[in-house]
Amino acid sequence: MVGAGRWLAARGLAPGSSGNISIRDGTTWLMTPTGRPLGRLSAEHVARLDASANPIAGPAPTKEHPLHLAVYQSRPTAAAIVHLHSTYAVALSCLSDLDPDRPLPPLTPYQVMRLDRLLVVPYAMPGSRELADAVRTRAQESPVLLLANHGSVVAAPTLDEAVAVAEELEEAARVALLVAGRPTRPLDAGQVAEIRERFRS
Ligand SMILES: [Zn+2]
Repeated sequence: MVGAGRWLAARGLAPGSSGNISIRDGTTWLMTPTGRPLGRLSAEHVARLDASANPIAGPAPTKEHPLHLAVYQSRPTAAAIVHLHSTYAVALSCLSDLDPDRPLPPLTPYQVMRLDRLLVVPYAMPGSRELADAVRTRAQESPVLLLANHGSVVAAPTLDEAVAVAEELEEAARVALLVAGRPTRPLDAGQVAEIRERFRS
């Protein structure tokens, strides 16, 4: 978790003290703390929560811990979650004309392989029960979410995979915004189907 935080910070994906990471550890959770940049974490800064989400060791967890717990409730196979306020994902999340069920056109094969099920969660106050409830509902359909006017959430069976998909989402958002306003040629339905057939996990 410490290494993942440094990795994400070094890539400019965790501006200020934004971004948080959690790991499921049996019936407890490890989470990054509130108010500390991801790039300046060490092991003593990691918070541990019990099965009822009460802090049992370390500093106070991120104020956004309800959204992490909501995703774990909806996705029993998820063992790690990365939540970022990375620039391009945030920019994408602020567009008013996003399709909530397909916010990114299928521009590249990798996008179809890794981000095919990206869904938008409607805006609610960070840390709120309302946001956790909305995330819980959407997470039942997909492990990769874009929170409107906020950022990205990725759940995966391993932390490495969650980090990789979060990075890919950021780059896909960047590409989509770079080509916005220009004529583009998204992959057609047949090309998308071929990729899904071969690579769908
Ligand atoms: Zn956030």
